[in-house]
Formats: sequence, C-alpha cells, structure tokens
Amino acid sequence: MENLLVLTHADETGSALTRASLETVTAGLELATRLSAPLTIGIVATDATSAAAALSSTGARLLAVSGEAFSQSRYATDAAAVEALCRAANATIVLAPGSSRFTRIAAGVAHRLGGFIDTHITALGGAETIEASRWFYRQRIEAVVSRDVRPWFLLLDAGTHAAFAGASSAAKVEEVAVQLPALRTTVSGFRAPQQDQQTIRPDAKMLLVAGAGWTKKQPDGQIHTAEAGELILGFLAATGASLGSSKSLVDQGGEGNSVLPFLTHLNQIGQTGSTPRHAKGLSTCCHGEEPHVVGWRFIADRRAISLDPNCGWTRGKADVVYFADAFTVIAKVNSLPEAAKS
Ligand SMILES: Cc1cc2nc3c(=O)[nH]c(=O)nc-3n(C[C@H](O)[C@H](O)[C@H](O)COP(=O)(O)OP(=O)(O)OC[C@H]3O[C@@H](n4cnc5c(N)ncnc54)[C@H](O)[C@@H]3O)c2cc1C
Repeated sequence: MENLLVLTHADETGSALTRASLETVTAGLELATRLSAPLTIGIVATDATSAAAALSSTGARLLAVSGEAFSQSRYATDAAAVEALCRAANATIVLAPGSSRFTRIAAGVAHRLGGFIDTHITALGGAETIEASRWFYRQRIEAVVSRDVRPWFLLLDAGTHAAFAGASSAAKVEEVAVQLPALRTTVSGFRAPQQDQQTIRPDAKMLLVAGAGWTKKQPDGQIHTAEAGELILGFLAATGASLGSSKSLVDQGGEGNSVLPFLTHLNQIGQTGSTPRHAKGLSTCCHGEEPHVVGWRFIADRRAISLDPNCGWTRGKADVVYFADAFTVIAKVNSLPEAAKS
C-alpha cells in the first residue's frame, strides 16, 4: 500500500499555509480516498500551530518542521526539512506544490531518497495505480505518467485544484527533529516590486492581454502610446487583473519603437510565452493568431476587443468578440470602476 505525504509550507507570515499548499492538500485527500491509502501532511513553517489547526478536519496525520531556521526559503534548511518529513512519514508518494520554494529543493531531496520526481503535474488519475498528467510542447501534448520507482515526488501546478478550506480547530501535530547542516547562506530579506508595479498576477481572476494595436497608428493617423499605457494601467488598478501581452508588442522594445515601459517578455502569452490560468480573459488590440492563442488554453471565458472583424478571435477562438476601438471601450470601463470590479 502507498504511504501518501502532502508537503506544505507557510507564506511570508510564517504561520499561514500558501494557497498552492492548500490546493495540494485537496489533491492529497482525493488521492488518499481513491487509493484507500493513509495520508500524512507535512508542514514547514516558523510556527506550525495555526497551519495544523487549519488542517485538523482533514483527519490526516500531521507532521511539522518548525522554527526560526525555516522562516525563510533557503536550500540547505528547506531540503533538510523536507527530507526529514519524508523519512518520518515513510512516504512512497510525495505531493508538493510547485512553488519556487519547493521546486528548488524537491529534485535534490528525491535524489537523496533514491526516488524520482515529475513536475508541472496538472491532474492525478487512475483507479488503483497513480496516473499523473502533465503537458509538453507548450501545452500541446498531454502525457499521462505512471512509475514504479518510490518514493515518487509529484510537484503540482498551481490553479489545478481547489484550495482546501475546512473548519479550524486545535490539532495534534508531531514535531519532526531536523539535523541541520552547516549553513552558509543568510537570508537578509526580500526585494520585490510593489503590488501596483507588479503586473503579472497568477492568482487574478482575469487576464488582460495587450496587443500591438495599442502602439499602432489609430484612425486619426497618430500613435497614442502614452494614453494606451494609462488606459491599461488604469484597467489593472480597477480590476486587479493580470497583464499579458502578444509577442509583437513586447518585441517592439528591441526594435527601437515606441513601447509600453511596464511590459517585458515575461508578460508574453503564447507558444513562446506563458500559458496562465485565469477564469476570464480580455484581449485588446491583438489579432488572435494561433501562436498567441495557444497560450489561452486554460482561460475559461475568452473575450476580445478588435477593430478587425476578420481577426483570429472571430474564428472560433473567443467566446465573445467586440468590434470596437479598445481605446474607447477601456476608457469607458475605467470610468466605471465598480462595474469593472464586477
Ligand atoms: C514560431 C513563432 C512563435 C510565436 N510565438 C508567439 C507567442 O508566444 N505569443 C504571441 O503573442 N505571438 C507569437 N508569435 C507571433 C504571432 O504569430 C503574431 O505575430 C502576434 O501574436 C501578433 O501580435 P498582435 O496580434 O498583437 O499584433 P498584430 O498582428 O499587429 O495585430 C494588432 C491588432 O490590433 C488591432 N487594433 C489596432 N488598433 C486597435 C484599436 N484601437 N482597438 C482594437 N483593436 C485594434 C488590429 O486590428 C490588429 O488586429 C509567434 C510566431 C512564430 C512564428
């Protein structure tokens, strides 16, 4: 019989679990039920008390590695913590969120334990065995993987499962002792852009895509890049949406053209860009060509604003297409912030 271990870690507060960790708990509960296998949840936190309380209703065995040494992400301490949790749980299957914190150490820990790892898992199926799904070749080929090697580490992509939310109550948690190696790295803190400067927001409900049309000549024969920038940032501020871009728009920066300064290649959606997961997407001033739209695979409700009635979005790629000037539409939406929020 398999021994299932779900690994979780705290967010920057040091005590509450990250959303991706709670999603992995849901995946672990589903798998444990299907396989009738015992489930252990391991917690890495500064203080595991409230995280354990939030998991009390799972009925799982709770293990924790806690203390000041684990308040920050650092390879040596995180790897030692996860190795100790795996050994204490005698785990054969280890599910972990594909967070930057665990992605960095999971392969190393799998190697220490003589196991195997697969990453970017989006679904777990199989009746008596475990079949893990992941996408290859820019989300075009879906593979279903099963392995005999144990322990088998599976890193789950965020947004593929609902976050676990159960009633919180005092829980019995077993503290696991960790033999730390000599620490050479001191974490002095984080430097990150302010929230309103950060335009890529994986947890946002909505994706706004800006296409090259924003920086092209408009019907008055002029380009309006500064106005485009204000409209796009105004929309992001009002809605909390994440900002994506077409390749043509982000490439313009390298060609010396007038560009939107807050866009980088990290915003690019598509075949050679990213494939984010959001409930809704609104494309603006973008033609909707296949290499771009392939990055919309996981956007549930797709809408586009385009001046071109023959654009790719109209060819079955969007649920709704508005033939309109995006400058006018976005300016109108931004003037109705309450409407935009909804
Ligand atoms: C190997 C390969 C990989 C690629 N990978 C990617 C990728 O990962 N991502 C990607 O995006 N592309 C990718 N491309 C490029 C892709 O094929 C397109 O060239 C690109 O997506 C076009 O960007 P766009 O639609 O923003 O620009 P354009 O094709 O220039 O379209 C601009 C649109 O804006 C509209 N418009 C202009 N003004 C307004 C207005 N006021 N209101 C409303 N609409 C307006 C125009 O009607 C037009 O439809 C790839 C291409 C290749 C060959």
